[in-house]
Amino acid sequence: MSATTPGLVCGHHHLYSALARGMPAPPQQPTDFLSILQQVWWRLDAALDLEMLRWSAMLGALEALQCGTTAIIDHHEGPNAIDGSLQVIADACEEVGVRVVCAYGVTDRWQDDGTLWADEHVPPPSMTDAARRGIAECERFVASGGRGMVGIHAAFTCSDETLVAAAGAAHDLGVGVHVHVAEGSIDAAAGARLQRLATDDWLLVHCVHLDRDLPGTIAHNPRSNMNNAVGYARPARRANAVVLGTDGIGADMLEEFRLAYVAHRADDVTASPDAAWRWLSNGWELMPEAKTDTVTWNYDHVDSPWHVAFTPGIRAIDVRRAGGEVLLHDGTPTRVDANEVVAKAAEQAARLFARL
Ligand SMILES: [Zn+2]
Repeated sequence: MSATTPGLVCGHHHLYSALARGMPAPPQQPTDFLSILQQVWWRLDAALDLEMLRWSAMLGALEALQCGTTAIIDHHEGPNAIDGSLQVIADACEEVGVRVVCAYGVTDRWQDDGTLWADEHVPPPSMTDAARRGIAECERFVASGGRGMVGIHAAFTCSDETLVAAAGAAHDLGVGVHVHVAEGSIDAAAGARLQRLATDDWLLVHCVHLDRDLPGTIAHNPRSNMNNAVGYARPARRANAVVLGTDGIGADMLEEFRLAYVAHRADDVTASPDAAWRWLSNGWELMPEAKTDTVTWNYDHVDSPWHVAFTPGIRAIDVRRAGGEVLLHDGTPTRVDANEVVAKAAEQAARLFARL
């Protein structure tokens, strides 16, 4: 029985989306996964500037810390504010006291003439300027000492040329690729297109409709998958290591664990919470330094999957680093003023919503 754990790890996040909640309704009601991307996320990420991104990342990092999540593997997109964006995210996380691995998710969906690639059935034909700048942003960030990966949005919005270039850049930098894989059926060709490129250090996000095995770690995001009605990913069937992510919907990893368990259970009534607990714990394989952080919780059985699976609302009280620095005291962050972060984020959300 213990009321402490190491810092938890969010294996797939989008800190840029922390301001999205409450955004104006899209012009048309999305009716499937692709139209959710087009109507919500691709409009939102195109409207971001670096000041909005800074406060979105500050808010996302603050909310992570308050949930006992001390490490985030982030995937960023913002086609009109690419240069310098990964440093903005890294700086915001450092300011709050959360560890982060940054990646810019490259894509050819925005053509060089500024229009969206219109044919959903075939990928864009060639590498765009935006994809080149996205890869350059990852290269610049990692080469300057940042902890990063090379990001790819998804195979279906990238030309083969871009997939090869991103994989090559990651190989040259000695880091993995962080990519959405077959999240919806629209990306069902991802397995075939990535097969010759993927390596063990890749982070493969979702894999709901993946038709083959690829090397790498799978990031399972049960809440997001339910929210987008893309189907159940069935991560237990895969031989890969699996980690849990939120896909941008906060960073409450005990909550995501409970959802992962109950989604597994809905698919297989013999499932136990041990599987989802293993997925949560696998986050420490990707970010081992989170194990040196200590989180004190308001619940005595926080090390027991069977207890946590049936106890909603467990809260982090204190978070401290190995050297003794307290990052969260009695639910309050020590490095930043939570009220100020929330107020500034609200100001930037208002600017963002006005652009939408
Ligand atoms: Zn995602």
